[in-house]
Amino acid sequence: MKKISLLGSTGSIGVSTLDVVERNPESFQILALSAGSNVDLFAEQIRKFKPQIAALFDSKKVSLLKEKISDLDVEVLSGEKGMVSVATHPEVDVVVSGVVGSAGLLPAIHALKAGKNLALANKETLVIAGELVLKEAEKTNSQIIPIDSEHSAIFQALNGEKQERIKKIILTASGGPFRTYSLDQMENIKVKDALNHPNWDMGSKITIDSSTMMNKGLEYIEAKWLFGIETPVEIIVHAQSIIHSMIEFVDTSIMAQLGIPDMRVPIAYALSYPDRFECDLPSLDLATMGNLTFEAPDFERFPCLQLAIDAMDIGKTMPAVLNAANEIAVQAFLDELIPYKDIAELIRMVMQNHSPSPLNELQDVLDADQWAREETTKLITVTH
Ligand code: MG
Repeated sequence: MKKISLLGSTGSIGVSTLDVVERNPESFQILALSAGSNVDLFAEQIRKFKPQIAALFDSKKVSLLKEKISDLDVEVLSGEKGMVSVATHPEVDVVVSGVVGSAGLLPAIHALKAGKNLALANKETLVIAGELVLKEAEKTNSQIIPIDSEHSAIFQALNGEKQERIKKIILTASGGPFRTYSLDQMENIKVKDALNHPNWDMGSKITIDSSTMMNKGLEYIEAKWLFGIETPVEIIVHAQSIIHSMIEFVDTSIMAQLGIPDMRVPIAYALSYPDRFECDLPSLDLATMGNLTFEAPDFERFPCLQLAIDAMDIGKTMPAVLNAANEIAVQAFLDELIPYKDIAELIRMVMQNHSPSPLNELQDVLDADQWAREETTKLITVTH
């Protein structure tokens, strides 16, 4: 029986994780849950999974939560401290992080410090602080098991092989809803268009990131940290999202992982690793799929992709700045404060205005993150 802490239980990854746990009650038990602010769903989850600890990030809503579950024997915590308690629960074997955005960093670091294996869906943790996160994992010999479908694919394709034998990683991208749009069409994209992803059902932040291909840019950075900073990563657009990524080895052999586009598959793998458990999900029907297609990414129509690659090349605090600027710009687009094409433009300007400095400690990341948020907000106010 694996004992699990889940961070971000009411988000898309959290809900899928609980679904996997519910389908395998003999294998998994939830000991601690944390959520952001969705009190209704969180209360339902607590009632169903009976964790020892439940932490709600939004401290203003804690009393409401306590009221809803007053008949249950559960310790209710709040804020960042609550998330850290969930991440470091002494009896837990695996911490699953499905938190959205840079809020995932602190609990992830604490989980690794406490020697927990980390099943990681929150890509920002590695994007903004990869170097520090890997150092913590090394110190306590804890393992990071990727949940992001592409990185799970690479992790699975690598199974049993030496990382040094990788020639390159081939990271697949669906291309998002605007894959076939012309530059002109990209000028007039509205929020509802961008929220409509062809293959994956996800939260709104990551759906916008998929449409700009910033998601693939963040995954490029994530792959570098997980599978070797010197390992070349090639991005290929594969519209059907059936091959979730590939590794080319030094002998030119390519290993790919395929499957239906359903996050429960990589989640189940991360939870069962190094074993595999039966999943009651539909098999991939290749004959029905028919064709799998591949094309090179277009950096002109998707400038965010290049910005992310540049940020990783520059290194130091630049990926953290890229990520924070993106978070603010995406929220501004969702709030209809800026047009779609300004997401990339704002990130470019913020990166230009930043002097990257080394990452020696967590505070360096938090400072860069804070600076970039303020700078992006300032630019939005000045230019819109
Ligand atoms: Mg992904």
